[in-house]
Amino acid sequence: MIEILSPDELRRARDTGALVHRILRTLRDRTRPGTNLLEIDRWARQMVEEAGAVSCYVDYAPSFGRGPFGHYICTSVNDAVLHGLPHDRALAAGDLLTLDLAVSLRGVVADSAISFVVGGTRPPEAVALIDATERALAAAIATAGPGVHLGDVSAAIGGVLEGAGYSVNTEFGGHGVGSTMHQDPHVSNTGRPGRGYRLRPGLLLAIEPWVMADTAELVTDADGWTLRSATGCLTAHSEHTVAITEEGVEVLT
Ligand code: MG
Ligand code: MG
Repeated sequence: MIEILSPDELRRARDTGALVHRILRTLRDRTRPGTNLLEIDRWARQMVEEAGAVSCYVDYAPSFGRGPFGHYICTSVNDAVLHGLPHDRALAAGDLLTLDLAVSLRGVVADSAISFVVGGTRPPEAVALIDATERALAAAIATAGPGVHLGDVSAAIGGVLEGAGYSVNTEFGGHGVGSTMHQDPHVSNTGRPGRGYRLRPGLLLAIEPWVMADTAELVTDADGWTLRSATGCLTAHSEHTVAITEEGVEVLT
């Protein structure tokens, strides 16, 4: 089902988006070499609860995971790219960390992810991967707007990722957002312009390019949740929740 938000729901979506943005930035700023993934999960829990928000992850038990997730944030390190289950692991300088957070506040969800390198080092391969996903996300946002086909948005993402030399996995991509985290339409990270659903004002989309350095194939970790690159290569992921408006597009996170 595709949800179209009322003006009041859109106002609440802005609050949820601002909260997710603030939590992710705070977690990024606090993370340093030696920080444990479980510590990041505790910080996330504290901020979600202090804001009176509800985690979309704790009780989440979809067909592709070993259900309920049981944590407040996804922490994916290096070759892990999606759904990283927080483990008792201390981060090292140079680790590429992706934090992915979705919460519901007063009935409206926002979902966002950031990738960054721990400890201020800038390994060129990590920088290139993060840069590609951020540029793909920016291209998708620049393309989206009322009346635009979903295929145009997907093609904008795929154009950047493929142009940077990466192959695109189509098993997981972006999605509609609203009263729940994962809704229609599916936003593939590659596609054909002029095809698919036409975006309408009031639609929220989570747009989320992600990429792996030398493969498009995923493997599932023994924890039943964390998805890793099949070759063990580095990975990155960038996600924003955006609202389609009468005028264009508004980034909420
Ligand atoms: Mg997400
Ligand atoms: Mg998402």
